[in-house]
Amino acid sequence: MAATDAPDRRIWIDGSLVPWRDATVHLLSHSLQRGSLVFDYMSVHATDRGAAVFRLGDHVRRFLASCELVGLPLAQGEQEISHAIVETVRANPGSTAVKVCAYLPSVEVDVVPLDDRVSLAVASYDPGLDVVARKSGAKPGYSPTLRIWLEKQRRNRRPDILSPHAKVAANYTGPMVAKWAAKKRGYDEILLLDEEGYLAEGPTTNFFLVDRDGTLRTPPEETVLLGVTRRSVLEIAERDGRKVIEERVRPEALFEAAEAFLTGTSAGVWAIATVDDRSIGAGAPGPVTAELAKRFREVVAGRDPGFLHWLTFVDEG
Ligand code: PMP
Repeated sequence: MAATDAPDRRIWIDGSLVPWRDATVHLLSHSLQRGSLVFDYMSVHATDRGAAVFRLGDHVRRFLASCELVGLPLAQGEQEISHAIVETVRANPGSTAVKVCAYLPSVEVDVVPLDDRVSLAVASYDPGLDVVARKSGAKPGYSPTLRIWLEKQRRNRRPDILSPHAKVAANYTGPMVAKWAAKKRGYDEILLLDEEGYLAEGPTTNFFLVDRDGTLRTPPEETVLLGVTRRSVLEIAERDGRKVIEERVRPEALFEAAEAFLTGTSAGVWAIATVDDRSIGAGAPGPVTAELAKRFREVVAGRDPGFLHWLTFVDEG
């Protein structure tokens, strides 16, 4: 089966909503052949006030920053992109996620395109129902805690090759190779180290430790993607009176920590049970991770008045 069809979904491409199955690019397009597609991915939540996008402005600004880092000359600005996202979420009821993409659809021969017109696309859908459930052989269900492999060979995205802040397709190839190998050996996820051997992040998640006194520690911004969930967890924890530290973390610190977890738009706050088959703390999810996961779920669902400004209610615009 080549493409999974989601017959109820429409995808916004350069100003028009087209059926899911028609959202295609040429095999020889620059973005496919060179990995130059820039994207961002955000969550949509069912709330008392209808569908709401979580931290829309932050995601759109990160998307624009990624385009800038890669040099894609995108024609649209923050407002236009935000409007396109809201329109697409409205047109696709029941969505839980939005993927916004900037890409070079032109067929090219060199790494630098002759035709540098950038297309903008927005897909709003439910990745579980519209994609995973439609694949034959898909295993339903999530494991509530993670078995992690600490990657020893392949380092995280290197700033001197391509900024780790850029959400560009090419930046995911190295982590894909490492995670695929770990999955074949039965692990759920990997953690990557930075150039100097400090903990960095997962292929699509940020990483936190919980010290024995309840302090949260996470690697600094220089070496990781600026995760919106990472920033949200730091802000929620601080608001709740918890101490948070952004600093380099040695891998050995994992095995002295009380708890560890990953954060991400898909993952939310996800407890780590083992790293290289060694248990972390007294068993996952630990109390701090469980509390933060609960707080994060409350915030994204609009049940914490202190963080309502993080939600864009698409039916009220
Ligand atoms: N690191 C990388 C490399 C990612 O791709 C992602 C997913 N966007 C994250 C961390 C988590 O970021 P966010 O919380 O914004 O989803």
